[in-house]
Amino acid sequence: MIYLDHQATTPIDPIVLAEMTSVSERQFANPGSPHRAGVAVAALIDKARGVVARFLGARKSEIYFTSGATEANNLAIKGVANRRRGHVVTTAVEHKSVLDCCAFLGVEGYDVTVLPVDGEGRVSARQVAESLRADTALVSVMLANNEVSTIQPIAEIGRVTRHAGVPFHCDATQGAGYVDIDVDELGVDLLSMSGHKIYGPKGVGVLYVSDDLTGRMDLVPLCHGGGQERGLRAGTLNTAGIVGLGAAVELLAEHRTEESRRLAGLRAVFLDELSHLVDFELNSGTGPGFLPHAVSLSLTGVDAQWLLASLTDVAVSTGSACNSASEEPSYVLTALGLSPERIMGSIRVSVGRFTGRDEVVRAARLVAAATGHDSRERPAA
Ligand code: PMP
Repeated sequence: MIYLDHQATTPIDPIVLAEMTSVSERQFANPGSPHRAGVAVAALIDKARGVVARFLGARKSEIYFTSGATEANNLAIKGVANRRRGHVVTTAVEHKSVLDCCAFLGVEGYDVTVLPVDGEGRVSARQVAESLRADTALVSVMLANNEVSTIQPIAEIGRVTRHAGVPFHCDATQGAGYVDIDVDELGVDLLSMSGHKIYGPKGVGVLYVSDDLTGRMDLVPLCHGGGQERGLRAGTLNTAGIVGLGAAVELLAEHRTEESRRLAGLRAVFLDELSHLVDFELNSGTGPGFLPHAVSLSLTGVDAQWLLASLTDVAVSTGSACNSASEEPSYVLTALGLSPERIMGSIRVSVGRFTGRDEVVRAARLVAAATGHDSRERPAA
């Protein structure tokens, strides 16, 4: 199987896995326990917290471990909105864990503004500025999109929200592996990340919350209990997961720049090979405003669901993995203004750390063969 679905999830890096295995075998004590074994585990968690904090340009006291980005997004949005009431602002292309939180708040009586995006999937700082109201409790905009890879102008939006004194949340789940993040430069007050998109484990994530924000307001926890994570996220900490996340972040920090270049090269090879075999249109850009490792494209006259079913040796997706069970056309591609036919023929391809050149060439040939025809000679009905 050639795995080209790194936006859905990444394999665990063997270095990360080795650290997790060692911790799972030996360091089982509860990090909340006062005995020596517990204190040793707490030190491992503290080290991982430090690694994540450095990676984000944050303080250790601003890092909260969660079960993933879905929980981090829920905690950020409901945690802030719960105390302030009023109005929340987000965009039409956010992950469902953001959009559904906002929809939930809508049912609870909040006003929700969902900003439209341009043809590349981008929202502007000006749109955000124009949407703000005196009672706006929160703005939530993602760093990079999980279907069309668009990088949003977070620093510009951050300047707008800072000026207005409105808390700003950024879902950085897809961008963290590829875009430099400094929370102060971006002007974000809350930021989410996930382990399994950066070659770390599943079931662990991070919410950054600025000390400034926690000093100004009490965020409401989703989980009450033993008071872990300074009362914001109760529950015994997932030691192996957190250590794995820390190791994954350390690897990212070391290799991100040259790795991004290599991945962009592989994507170019894939697209070049495919372009010799079938007709397609790009739904996402391949320039600086987009993630380097991923592309969304529409194969002319092809039903992508059907294509995927016959493509047994290549893992790509028709859209976000979290929504691919639904029969609905991708809401992200719809928000870009693409026609239903083009959305029906769309696939998302993303290369990763362990992808080789031969694999992308073979994958392009297999995708083309699975279309069942040369679309230039014999357009499908
Ligand atoms: N936000 C984005 C942009 C994502 O791509 C994902 C994962 N598909 C999530 C949030 C949810 O992350 P997790 O799987 O860690 O809950």
